[in-house]
Amino acid sequence: MRGWSELAERVAGTTRTSEKTSLLARYLAVLPADELRLAATFLAGRPFAEADQRAIGLGWATIAAVVCHLAEAPAGALGAAYDHSSDLGKAVAEVLSLRECSPDPWLGPTLAEVADAFAAIEVASGPAAKSAVFADLLKQCDPLTAKYVVKILTGELRIGLREGLLEAAIAAAFERPLPEVQWAGMITGDTGETAILAKEGRLHEARLRLLHPLKFMLASPAENAAEIISRLGPTVWVEDKYDGIRAQLHRRGPTVRLYSRDLHDISEQFPEIVEAARDLPWDGILDGEILAFANGHVLPFLTLQARLGRKDPNAAIRAEVPVVYVAFDLLAIGPRSAAATNGTSPAAGIAATAVATAVEPLLRVPLLQRRRRLEELELPSPDGSGRFALSHLVSADSVEDLDRVFGEARARRNEGLMVKDPQSGYSPGRRGQGWLKMKRALATLDCVVVGVEVGRGKRHGVLSDYTFAVRNSDGRLATIGKAYTGLTDAEIAAMTRWFEEHTIRQLGRFRQVEPTVVVEIAFDIIQRSSRHQSGFALRFPRIVRLRTDKSEADADTLETVERLYRDLQFGAEYLVTAAAKRAR
Ligand code: AMP
Repeated sequence: MRGWSELAERVAGTTRTSEKTSLLARYLAVLPADELRLAATFLAGRPFAEADQRAIGLGWATIAAVVCHLAEAPAGALGAAYDHSSDLGKAVAEVLSLRECSPDPWLGPTLAEVADAFAAIEVASGPAAKSAVFADLLKQCDPLTAKYVVKILTGELRIGLREGLLEAAIAAAFERPLPEVQWAGMITGDTGETAILAKEGRLHEARLRLLHPLKFMLASPAENAAEIISRLGPTVWVEDKYDGIRAQLHRRGPTVRLYSRDLHDISEQFPEIVEAARDLPWDGILDGEILAFANGHVLPFLTLQARLGRKDPNAAIRAEVPVVYVAFDLLAIGPRSAAATNGTSPAAGIAATAVATAVEPLLRVPLLQRRRRLEELELPSPDGSGRFALSHLVSADSVEDLDRVFGEARARRNEGLMVKDPQSGYSPGRRGQGWLKMKRALATLDCVVVGVEVGRGKRHGVLSDYTFAVRNSDGRLATIGKAYTGLTDAEIAAMTRWFEEHTIRQLGRFRQVEPTVVVEIAFDIIQRSSRHQSGFALRFPRIVRLRTDKSEADADTLETVERLYRDLQFGAEYLVTAAAKRAR
């Protein structure tokens, strides 16, 4: 692990991508297979493979307690060190270097021992048990090794290593074509496995695995119709941007799983969709959105909120908030079986699994054909007894045409639109150019909560006031505002417990917290202001909802704020111009 950490340090130390790639390639090329798998997984900045459902579940408070105890440092030492760098790994190294005698760097844990410890922390139940395993691991690490153990464990590697670069390094290390490495990475969702396949010349054997979530394709923001047509056109597809929960549906025989955008299994929250999908006569993967839907109408997100995080919902809540699955993409499909399986019979399940031959991945097939094949599935709709629908889709051939579609969408108060290139493939995990999302009429920003305070009045005793931030160009978080309202009492209570466990340090009423919670903030206007680190302030900010599906890395950037600020200026100007025109 020390060798790996030194490599990571060198990669972080150069900004030249060619140098990063060659450092990595030289390192990976000589590793034996078992170490290669772990080294590549860790370089992807994760304790486990991307498609692996496990999460370590170690909070800031536990890490801080273990580190300060080992270094015999005062309780606030880690918080103070964190302030120097805004980097937890670096802060841990700084505090641990206070130890009187540090372990011999070269007698520290191996990659396999670190991986075993990660697995043991994950299975340990409760902070005390997790903390004991973590302390055992950290005890053996010199400060540099500890720095990277913590960075991997918290998923915050931050050594300037994009996934694309790691794939290029794997291709270079084993002299394989880059597109083959990218494809294997895409369909296995496992960088470690991809590295092994590359080493052994078996990239063509990479197989898409049902019941292992693929990363989701994301959309880039777009300004206006002219920009969209020039980027994707002349013919583009426009779909409604649904305000529900993005979910990937996998079906293999009678086994059905729903995965959220952060690749968590959310099947238990939506049993009616799982049950409906069991009756489908094919194996495969759909991409789409779960929506609350009743009497032929989509219900607002606020209604759907009652179902979030609730496992095995009872009949009453299922009747109160019925859900449907709106499919907009087909990512893989197997042959159609003659009859639908009976999900309740294990024998039928085994038969169905045996019949299920390999599914065909459709990721590189143009959207045009994916959509045609999706339509051919004739998913059973809620008009009958089904639970499925397809996204509403229209085609536009020119800027005028697209402007008209936008106008119509606004008129029916649609918050936003997704514009897609019908020739595009599906790029998992990428904010590709194949999909563009039209800015919402009423802008919102996804911000990271960096501080919380006890509320006043009826919110006395709970942490209800949030200070939030966006990311600036050098990756640091810059505060932009503070909001008090928006969440339900139950959400505030749950978040209070979470923030107490993830407090970095306390300054009077104010608690600086681990910056991992993302909230969607609505506001009226953006103003320049010296009150916040970002140089901007939001007027009337309110929390629309917690974005549990987003991580800190998905939060909006200062660049987006600056663009919105400019846009809103233009909006104001447009009004003046229109008024002036009317006056003329
Ligand atoms: P945002 O959450 O603002 O980054 O917008 C991207 C999200 O829009 C996706 O993650 C989906 O949940 C959602 N979405 C809604 N409708 C669609 C659609 N028709 N196609 C793709 N994504 C959609």
